[in-house]
Amino acid sequence: MCHWRRVRNYYKRCRHYLDLPDEMIQCDDRHCKFSDRHPPDCRGPRCIQTCWQYRQFPQQYEPVIDGYCSTCIIMGHVN
Ligand SMILES: [Zn+2]
Ligand SMILES: [Zn+2]
Ligand SMILES: [Zn+2]
Repeated sequence: MCHWRRVRNYYKRCRHYLDLPDEMIQCDDRHCKFSDRHPPDCRGPRCIQTCWQYRQFPQQYEPVIDGYCSTCIIMGHVN
């Protein structure tokens, strides 16, 4: 089932967080309305009964990056 992926980088050196744009993760489940594998003729009440109609709750990732964020690099706070 398709879901959004939300990534928030944590930069260890400057202790800043950076939210990345949400990313759509496609599944290949034919019983998912948003999937590429979902048959185009599956519509209406039948689709509602057999297929996922909603995307899953976003999965949150918080990778820790051993470095400085791009703002700090641009501002020259990095040595
Ligand atoms: Zn899906
Ligand atoms: Zn369907
Ligand atoms: Zn920073």
